[in-house]
Amino acid sequence: MDLLDKFDSIVAQRTALPFEEADPFTVVMDKIISETEAIINGRPTILAGTNNYMGMTFNQEALEAAHKALDDFGTGTTGSRVLNGTYGSHKTLEARIAEFYGVEHCMVFSTGYQANLGMISTLAGKNDYVIIDADSHASIYDGCAMGNATIVRFKHNDVAQLERRLKRLPEDAGKLLVVEGIYSMLGDSAPLKEILELGKEYGCETLVDEAHSMGFCGEKGRGIAEDLGVEHMVDYIVGTFSKSVGTIGGFAVSNHPKFDVLRLVCRPYVFTASLPPSVVASAIASIEAISRAGNRRAHLWENAKMLHGGLKEAGFDLATEKAESPIIAVCLPDIETATHFWENLLKEGVYVNMAVPPATPVGYNLMRVSICAQHTTEQVQEIITRFINTAKKINLKLGNA
Ligand code: PMP
Repeated sequence: MDLLDKFDSIVAQRTALPFEEADPFTVVMDKIISETEAIINGRPTILAGTNNYMGMTFNQEALEAAHKALDDFGTGTTGSRVLNGTYGSHKTLEARIAEFYGVEHCMVFSTGYQANLGMISTLAGKNDYVIIDADSHASIYDGCAMGNATIVRFKHNDVAQLERRLKRLPEDAGKLLVVEGIYSMLGDSAPLKEILELGKEYGCETLVDEAHSMGFCGEKGRGIAEDLGVEHMVDYIVGTFSKSVGTIGGFAVSNHPKFDVLRLVCRPYVFTASLPPSVVASAIASIEAISRAGNRRAHLWENAKMLHGGLKEAGFDLATEKAESPIIAVCLPDIETATHFWENLLKEGVYVNMAVPPATPVGYNLMRVSICAQHTTEQVQEIITRFINTAKKINLKLGNA
């Protein structure tokens, strides 16, 4: 028995995908022209499938800060935050994020994945319960798997089912309720107020992952909890630098007075190398820029609404009634049609994410389109036009046909 034999069915599934030249899961970006354009397979392509929501990857101040940090401090720290891997800039970054969120504490992780892994597995231990939305990101599921708590799932965004689940749990047990602000595949938002109120009523501590809402939701760009005015009911916010912030890394913020003990006991924080100084410097500059980016935020929402409206009018089946985020998910009937559509759209010069189960909820074969604050109105119109051209080319029946 070869240990890799157990994945044969996955390999078979992949090789059965009907793509001709371009495999949706092995795309190479030959050249990045800007936040919104790249050369893929030799062709200039509009990028409409990144998480670069605020378009910060080429922010001038972030670039300059990163260059300087590279020169001053070198390419990496070569150590954990608890040994030789804490530089002054890591502390500055944590202080800036705490200030951005208006809270006492912040811990920076090497990725957002590790932030969820670390926070959930450490907070929810033996004899505790961790209550999660069924459509949670893999990092939330993996955080649950790594901890020793009992996992309780409720149907995506189903507040009534959440209450039924909470009612059954022992009153005096430790409980961590985990949800996301915006869900990354369908781009829909959580009914956070109702969820958090229930959580508090049933004695839960609450953690909200704002990975896909930080930067553009809420007046200051802190996320959905800010937007809905419910931050006071959130005990821990987790976020990432790999989306709106435009680099890599993750964080958790909280007002919990005992928060700092996590620096000693949270294994995905302790047992990995810290972020390179250039990344830290660009994150500091980018968060500073995001906190002043009211106009960019407004343009991003205009783009998202225009894209949603245009695709809906053309008759595409969209996962949300209106634009709840810069993620607009176009639903296709099956994986073969999705593959065919994705490849032909790429030939038209638009890159989006093809997202299919298990990355998506069962039954969803998606063109996950995500829009950027730096897309021009013309680019958004082009994306819509090329979606319509692609539908015609592959004879996809649209809702209004
Ligand atoms: N949470 C959610 C909801 C995500 O979608 C992701 C990444 N896709 C992460 C956490 C992990 O972020 P990172 O890329 O920083 O590891």
